[in-house]
Amino acid sequence: MKRHNAVLLIFTGGTISMAEDPITGALRPLDFERLQEFIPEIKNTKTRVDCYPFDPFIDSSDVRPPFWCELAQTIYDNYDNYDGFVVLHGTDTMSFSASALSFMLDNLSKPVIFTGSQLPVGMMRSDAKENLLTAIEIAAAELDGRPRVPEVCIFFEDTLFRGNRTTKKNAEHFNAFDSHNYPPLAKAGVHIKYFPTAIHYPSNNLPLSLHKKVDQNVAILKLFPGITEHTVNAILNIPHLRAVVLETFGSGNAPQHPWFYQTLKRATEQGIIIVNKTQCSSGAVEMGRYETSLNLLNSGVISGHDITTEALVTKLMYLLGEHGDDTEKVRELLQQSLCGEMTIED
Ligand code: ASP
Repeated sequence: MKRHNAVLLIFTGGTISMAEDPITGALRPLDFERLQEFIPEIKNTKTRVDCYPFDPFIDSSDVRPPFWCELAQTIYDNYDNYDGFVVLHGTDTMSFSASALSFMLDNLSKPVIFTGSQLPVGMMRSDAKENLLTAIEIAAAELDGRPRVPEVCIFFEDTLFRGNRTTKKNAEHFNAFDSHNYPPLAKAGVHIKYFPTAIHYPSNNLPLSLHKKVDQNVAILKLFPGITEHTVNAILNIPHLRAVVLETFGSGNAPQHPWFYQTLKRATEQGIIIVNKTQCSSGAVEMGRYETSLNLLNSGVISGHDITTEALVTKLMYLLGEHGDDTEKVRELLQQSLCGEMTIED
């Protein structure tokens, strides 16, 4: 007899884990029993759903790297007992957490589906129920005995995205996320339609391995017309700084003032890693296409191709944590797509 699939529902917090207090009207965290009162369908799916609540629940604006480590460890510890995992998480930093987990859970071969909601469960018109039930269905879905989506993903509204390709784009509408540079992995309508050519399937049977070393000495430097030498210097002289996400214009362009690229060159020569990431949400950095990016190339700045800021920040933290003593290794791995986080054109 076919056994029922099992999914572990990991509650971490965010709007989806809250309901209005009937007396005060204030939003308060829910426990699993109360959540099932609002969404009784959880008990009625063919999938066995167990719950793992974090304590305390947090608003995702309070997420820090130790939270990612705890989340990755929870999945690792329960990996053999479940067919898939659903992570209930606030939307504000969900893309950072999904990106971080994609690097920390190496050789993943089961679904890890993040979801949340824009309106708390139990409120009229809440998007919590659809998001949660569809995420469970996707986490349990198999084809020929193999998981349909063995990746860290975000499911929101009607779309399944590769997690490390997403950005929160909307604080108001239900379609809160987008993946500007990579197609959806599935679309949920009357049926859930999977797009296998976009999904990564592991080519080997290597066991899951967990990477929890993280180095937070990373900064973001966003360029704008009129940025001063003081500002650039202040950022590049942050104590213990190891790496900078340089958010540039268009296809990776920057001002041509000599002070600018000379300052960057000094920093890279001192071992600070600088990665060029376009401020545009779609498209990629092409260093050397314009003269305005040639200076960056000559200053030792690395191309971030079409990576998101969320994936780049977490990739840097992960690589510096794992290979921090070997800057050349970190620079080399930054130019590779480790788990589908960027497209490298030939
Ligand atoms: N501030 C909330 C959070 O990210 C918003 C949400 O859940 O959508 O935790």
